[in-house]
Amino acid sequence: MKENFVDGKQVAVLGLGESGRAAAELLARKGANVIIRDNYLNERIDQMAKKLEVRGIRVETQQSGFTPCRFDLGVLSPGIDPSVPLVKQLKRENVPVIGELELAYRFCDTPIVAITGTNGKSTTTELVAAALTAGGLKTTACGNIGVPFSDVVRGEEFYNMVTLEVSSFQLEAIEKFRPQVAVYLNFTPDHLDRYKSMEEYRQAKVRIFMNQSKDDFAVVNPDCELPALTAKKITISAYHGGADYTFEDGFLCAHGERVLAQELTNLRGPHNAENQLATLAVADIYGVSRQDMIGALRAYRPLPHRCELVREFDGVIYVNDSKATNIDALEKALLGQTRPVVLIAGGKDKGFDFAPMKTLIAKKVKDVVAIGEVQNKIVQSWGQYVRCHRAADFAEAVNMSRRLAKAGDTVLLSPGCSSYDMFKNFEDRGQQFRELVAKLA
Ligand code: ADP
Repeated sequence: MKENFVDGKQVAVLGLGESGRAAAELLARKGANVIIRDNYLNERIDQMAKKLEVRGIRVETQQSGFTPCRFDLGVLSPGIDPSVPLVKQLKRENVPVIGELELAYRFCDTPIVAITGTNGKSTTTELVAAALTAGGLKTTACGNIGVPFSDVVRGEEFYNMVTLEVSSFQLEAIEKFRPQVAVYLNFTPDHLDRYKSMEEYRQAKVRIFMNQSKDDFAVVNPDCELPALTAKKITISAYHGGADYTFEDGFLCAHGERVLAQELTNLRGPHNAENQLATLAVADIYGVSRQDMIGALRAYRPLPHRCELVREFDGVIYVNDSKATNIDALEKALLGQTRPVVLIAGGKDKGFDFAPMKTLIAKKVKDVVAIGEVQNKIVQSWGQYVRCHRAADFAEAVNMSRRLAKAGDTVLLSPGCSSYDMFKNFEDRGQQFRELVAKLA
């Protein structure tokens, strides 16, 4: 059992999202006095606050005012930028500040497989959890993927492994977090609205390895620039031979052995092969038999909003890839298309440069329907190479795509941007797409 370092302590949890709520409940369970602080007051926060206050956790917002208090510890939600005044104030007062991931880790007695990368985290986290479960281990997929790590640590359920999706925002605020296996899938531009540079984003991500020892494992993509690793290194690549786990002639291979043809699974494309190869590597570390692992890989069904087939109507296929919130994911979705594409793209500006994609756009796309904050940027970047149209809202984007697409085409929603300018989140965007497509008549 790890030492309880919060019992009787005064702790500020910064940010009342799901992670902040879970951190606060874990802290309260461990005997801390908890105050949650958030800048905003809205209906969701108000409702959560009422539930938490019954459990002795106070919620303060900018509107209600922050009571002066001397804190022993701050716990940061991943959605909060460490440079905001709420955090700076604690740091000025020399209060140690850790993230929710670090907090949960300090109470976790179970070995951890942690999965990071710009894209493919959720898919791989689910695949790994399925493969380990098939091998008889009791695990759960948690972290950035949905159920916060703090909830799993607080819960009554016994696990002998934790399969954890971790984001760069969470890794920014770790100190001792040490996964037994760290999976590093890929690294491409994202979150440039939060990080000053790609290098700053990379530095956050590679922290996943920083506390590993020589008894741990790092499952990595050899294309990524990595620091010196202490853990045992295992490489995966769908694009180059020479890695430990490779993708050759459509087969997922382990050390040259053909384990499974990808066409026998429900995932497609080299990017998904890398997610599957990482899963093979982790399952091999834990001694899952080939038969169990193959069963898990074949049974896995893709998560919604990831290149999900929504409908075929009038000979046009409608695909929802709302989870493509950066350019690399959009690129991978396009590479997987075999029919002419009418692409719906755009959303909130995260500082991306769309110009380098122009060749692929010209090759795969016949019309672009641009939406959201980056609409003009997209038209400026691609307008010379492909017909671009601006849609005033999402319904117009879908209707316009329908008019532009001919039998044999695909209408692909793969925004390459986050959704917060027009939608609650990527799920909301995907769901609205499904509904608008269902209504086409
Ligand atoms: P994350 O949790 O990292 O956002 P997901 O598994 O939810 O990753 O997939 C997000 C998007 O990235 C989807 O559009 C998906 O098609 C695409 N994608 C999935 N795996 C990869 C990969 N290994 N490389 C690039 N893109 C990927």
